[in-house]
Amino acid sequence: MLGPRLRAILGRMTGSSGRFWAERSAADERDRMVERQLRHRGIVDERVLAAMLVVPREAFVDPAQRALAYADEALPIPSGQTISQPYIVARMTELLGVGPRDRVLEIGTGSGYQAAILAEMGCRVTTIERHAELADGARARLAELGYSDRIEVRVGDGSVGDPGGAPWRGILVAAAAPSIPDALREQLDPAGGRLVLPVGPRDHQDLIVVTRNGNDWLERNDGPVAFVPLVGEGGFPG
Ligand code: SAM
Repeated sequence: MLGPRLRAILGRMTGSSGRFWAERSAADERDRMVERQLRHRGIVDERVLAAMLVVPREAFVDPAQRALAYADEALPIPSGQTISQPYIVARMTELLGVGPRDRVLEIGTGSGYQAAILAEMGCRVTTIERHAELADGARARLAELGYSDRIEVRVGDGSVGDPGGAPWRGILVAAAAPSIPDALREQLDPAGGRLVLPVGPRDHQDLIVVTRNGNDWLERNDGPVAFVPLVGEGGFPG
């Protein structure tokens, strides 16, 4: 790792722009995030780790929060919402168990970071956000980063899913539901489709994984989490 002074000197010697060094430094931060926050805590899916290693999280946070982009915590985004902690993004993605060309529905676009991770893994993503301000920001950001061909961002109440796009190989809900919405169970691919979502009261939840096999839905609990509420027909009242 180069110190800032050495970088400045090298930058002057080579004529390299500040942007090169900023990107280099973000890549170093991503390396550390993947090793210390993800691999060290038990994330083992190499496809998830590889995606988290390349998606520039700093592009999804408020410029005022840039220094915290790779911190081990959720961060505020507009409309009173949050971009989830890197570990939670990685864990939910790993639990979803999807791969290249799988069609995935994300509910709660927020900044667009989670959708970018899924797209980086080769998934085709439809993501729904109830706040138009967030959906517009995410759409523009994802286009600038070159993900538009793999991600469709919509505004609406995602708590009822997207029946028109069903069956979904994976449904990832990035906001807390009081119970598992029936509509989401029904929209899962009967041949092993998975739903990952936080379930519980507004102040604390459990991360639940539902796997559908025909007309059987197997549920398992991956442990405690804390999310902003899913607000809508299949969630909490607004
Ligand atoms: N996945 C996001 C990211 O990578 O930045 C973080 C999501 S944030 C924790 C939860 C999001 O769910 C918020 O942006 C919130 O507005 C959204 N949300 C809550 N209820 C919703 C609903 N019924 N339909 C769609 N989005 C909803």
